[in-house]
Amino acid sequence: MRIEEGIKLGFKDVLILPKRSALKSRSEVSLCKKIHFKYSNVCWSGIPIIASNMDTVGTFNMAHVLSEFHIFTAIHKYYNIQQWKEFILHIPKKKLHYVMISTGISDLDYMKLKQIIALSPLLQYICIDVANGYSEYLIDFIKKIRSKFPDKVICSGNVVTGEMVEALLLAGSDIVKVGIGPGSVCTTRLKTGVGYPQLSAIIECADAAHGLKGHIISDGGCINSGDIAKAFGAGADFVMLGGIFAGHNECEGEIIQDNGKKFMIFYGMSSKNAMKLHMGKIDKYKTDEGKSVKLLFKGSVYNTVLDILGGLRSTCTYIGAQGIHELTKRTTFIRVLEQENKVFNNSNLF
Ligand code: 5GP
Repeated sequence: MRIEEGIKLGFKDVLILPKRSALKSRSEVSLCKKIHFKYSNVCWSGIPIIASNMDTVGTFNMAHVLSEFHIFTAIHKYYNIQQWKEFILHIPKKKLHYVMISTGISDLDYMKLKQIIALSPLLQYICIDVANGYSEYLIDFIKKIRSKFPDKVICSGNVVTGEMVEALLLAGSDIVKVGIGPGSVCTTRLKTGVGYPQLSAIIECADAAHGLKGHIISDGGCINSGDIAKAFGAGADFVMLGGIFAGHNECEGEIIQDNGKKFMIFYGMSSKNAMKLHMGKIDKYKTDEGKSVKLLFKGSVYNTVLDILGGLRSTCTYIGAQGIHELTKRTTFIRVLEQENKVFNNSNLF
């Protein structure tokens, strides 16, 4: 047994220090970023935010709207080939630049992935997703996908430490997904005691990845645009969002009425809900590591995106960054014991 003494930080433990700025207005800030990937020789440009591949969030309808903003959607892995065919038929070709295909690492997943990729050469982004990215099987699967699809951009995860980021990059990933336990509907830290505070995970994993010309996605734990700015400030190349994008028109969650109000159900992909839905049962040797919540229905995701982008532009003007690409080098974090003033809470909102 060993104890790591250094303190690890989450988003709630820091604020970003304001700095002198030559920007006159938020409208001068560009949130677009160009990224050249390690293996695949693909150059991507867009706003480096990704809707999570959770089955209620990473939907085809979400991709239709977010691609308008040049934002990625990681499509969940439960659509069948026929549904993919119809999606590809109806979506304008240039929007496929903002679509990621998600896959697990079983033989069945591999067969389905090949079938989806065969549908269009414009599907260039593959997200290999397992809860525990420390599995040797993930490394083997990445190698297999890299040799089969040398031109595709491969993202894999999730991990939280630099040495494992390096291992996934060296196996053939262009991007590594970072985050174990920070998610809004995740209970892994409670059920297993395993996890890593997200801000420190980003800082350490970005350092490891950038040294090898790889990239990282910060996955989970952002509850507002301030957290997204902190994730970019810490060195994330992309930020993946589940809860913030949940509960909208474009999601596929069940809608319920309660006390005259409309809610949408949102659940973790390892929750009892998800396991029953996709596997039909919960094996006796497993426990759930996710919860289910009801969210007040939020309407179209369009307005949420405008709100997030407005927040990010404002961060940039506060610290004198011309855009997201300058956020990390303009960021100084200060450790804090308080965030917002809580004198009025949600029940006072008007
Ligand atoms: P959020 O943005 O909602 O805080 O986090 C979204 C992320 O939480 C997802 O992209 C995924 O990595 C993670 N996640 C989703 N469902 C579960 C779950 O049931 N258990 C755990 N441990 N993580 C989950």
